[in-house]
Amino acid sequence: MSVAENYRLKQYILPNKKILEINALIVDELLSYRQNNDENESGGILIGLTSKKGNILIKKITTPFENDTRHHLIYKRKSIEHLKILKREYIISNGIMTYQGNWHTHPFPQALPSVIDTNSWNESLEEEISLSGYLIFIIISQKEIGVWARKLNTKKIIKLNERGKYECSNK
Ligand SMILES: [Zn+2]
Repeated sequence: MSVAENYRLKQYILPNKKILEINALIVDELLSYRQNNDENESGGILIGLTSKKGNILIKKITTPFENDTRHHLIYKRKSIEHLKILKREYIISNGIMTYQGNWHTHPFPQALPSVIDTNSWNESLEEEISLSGYLIFIIISQKEIGVWARKLNTKKIIKLNERGKYECSNK
């Protein structure tokens, strides 16, 4: 991994003190959907693995498909393609790559979840099985990346803090 890639890599502290890591390429991909002007909202799912130590590594995201509902203030994941990609990743990784949560954009400077967002984050879907015990939700706003985690089987959603950039990695 190059120094430049390392710099863009994002790590967040989960409520259980484990780490959520989003690799640099995924960070770039997410930021490329920022709504700086009159673009429509975007979104997709987060696919990744849970390490033996319980850290979550986001390795792949899905991005909007034609059948998704997209307006300036609305994104609804409607296309079956998201789950097709998830299934394919799950199969080719022998079950290591799983659903970790979802992401979407907001056309505002700050990343604040709407009531609709928190309600949907609290709904459990069948595919939302996570080995880490958490589901991850990301909002990409104009000026920040907001990351939240919900402990499975609870309705407690916690905003995650970014890990200090100079702490050493403990994967
Ligand atoms: Zn939203």
